[in-house]
Amino acid sequence: MRLWVATGNSNKYGELRDTVAMLGLPVEVLPLETVAVDESGVSYYQNAFKKAVSGARLRRESIVIADDSGLEIPALGGLPGVHSARFSWKGSTGCRALQAVLSERGIVTAPARFICCIVGFLPTSPLCISAVGTVSGTIHAEARGPGGFGYDPLFVPDDESETFAEMPGKHKAVISHRAKAFVAFMGMLGGVTPGMP
Ligand code: IMP
Repeated sequence: MRLWVATGNSNKYGELRDTVAMLGLPVEVLPLETVAVDESGVSYYQNAFKKAVSGARLRRESIVIADDSGLEIPALGGLPGVHSARFSWKGSTGCRALQAVLSERGIVTAPARFICCIVGFLPTSPLCISAVGTVSGTIHAEARGPGGFGYDPLFVPDDESETFAEMPGKHKAVISHRAKAFVAFMGMLGGVTPGMP
């Protein structure tokens, strides 16, 4: 079975490919370059839906999925949340902006979680399938590690000692919010696609 991943983020695609390989999932994931969509939805689901629709329009004969994801920090009222990709603060963006906010608030570490919503369309059905995965951990004001992308250098998952950016990418690909959402998605796909586990 082949499944097209609609994303402009090669890190996300690479992570899903590693997830499939590491978990031995019976599916081949292929990258589908899409035009940027307006990600102003108020939920991960809305944004993932928009991306999946735009991808599915390009490949009507295939299964197409897209994800929307973000980091949530309760001590910051849930920020950066659904705005994670566009989070900015006093001229900085992304990871540096978050470090600036944490430093201004005097926060060295705080509980946090990553969340990922995957939406997929099947050529045989007018319905879409969606699944969510989360990973809880701790956000650190100090960045550690060269790998990953986005907020990876600041996030240590529960039961781990390394940040997502320090650990091997293949390990992140098994424990991440994206991996959990994808495994859940595959389980739901199995319910509508004969032959899937
Ligand atoms: P989007 O899902 O393309 O809107 O982007 C989500 C944003 O959240 C990314 O640009 C990253 O800043 C952040 N993010 C989502 N997932 C991850 C992850 O696995 N590691 C680090 N940052 C992430």
